[in-house]
Amino acid sequence: MVSNIQKYSIHDGPGIRSTVFLKGCPLLCAWCHNPETQAFQPEIVWYGGKCIGCLSCVEACPHQALKATAQGIVIDRERCVCCGTCTDLCPTLALEKLGKEMTVEQVLAEVEKDRVFYEESGGGVTLSGGEPLSQKEFAVEFLKRCKELGYHTAVDTSGFVPEEVFDAVLPYVDLFLYDIKHLDDEVHRKYMKAPVAPIQHNLRHIVKKGAQVWIRVPLVPTINDAPEHIRRIGALMQDLGLKEIYLLPYHKMAEAKYHRLCLPYTVSHIEEPTAEQMQELADILSKQGLNVHIGG
Ligand code: SF4
Ligand code: SF4
Repeated sequence: MVSNIQKYSIHDGPGIRSTVFLKGCPLLCAWCHNPETQAFQPEIVWYGGKCIGCLSCVEACPHQALKATAQGIVIDRERCVCCGTCTDLCPTLALEKLGKEMTVEQVLAEVEKDRVFYEESGGGVTLSGGEPLSQKEFAVEFLKRCKELGYHTAVDTSGFVPEEVFDAVLPYVDLFLYDIKHLDDEVHRKYMKAPVAPIQHNLRHIVKKGAQVWIRVPLVPTINDAPEHIRRIGALMQDLGLKEIYLLPYHKMAEAKYHRLCLPYTVSHIEEPTAEQMQELADILSKQGLNVHIGG
């Protein structure tokens, strides 16, 4: 299930890349910047700015999943079966179905179009999500075919999949972009809805097996930006012999996506970190001998 194929990406590994976003993630991070990739199933989204309020969709939905409210069209996710009736008839394309079943060869045909950019920039193809390794069969086959075609491959992962999945993709991955959101289990369970132990275990496991890893930390003020916590992430990297770390500042641009998906956005009270705050945290890691990058 593919959510999107983003061309000319410069934030998901070296050079110019095509990033393939797979849909579905076992974590539920409260601040997720891509909430449209959390569910494993297709979803309908409503764009308020395009809607003219004709209510054709509400009348036509065979499952009574749409309701007109003062805030606009609300989608009942329990009832919606993504039949596409409403998206087909909406005169202004204010409703859209997210998520598309694609074969490995179909996705490869898309990324092949930009081979020249990868070759000239030292780029390649990145598998992202959601959690791309949750779709094990697709991921293994896709990455294997990418290597056969000579692409540099990267996988952007939360680390929250069984160890055996990493073992299956390892021969075909040149670089892992590995997220660390929080090192404490209690906080991890609270905000990510999952334990942290498997993530740390898998990180150690793939490093031991010789994988190249860049760490990525989504920096969310008041949740994981305490200097001591950042220092602990640095210490873990030193222990593992890792060098590259990317600090990704939390931003509120995703809030509109939550509204479109009729999902609650529970972290609107959190302020975006300032450039000075980001630099202070980067300095802590630099002093630990790490190569720190701010942003994707
Ligand atoms: S059919 Fe489209 S334009 Fe009409 S109410 Fe529904 S979403 Fe809005
Ligand atoms: S996709 Fe089908 S079930 Fe879902 S809201 Fe639209 S018409 Fe109703």
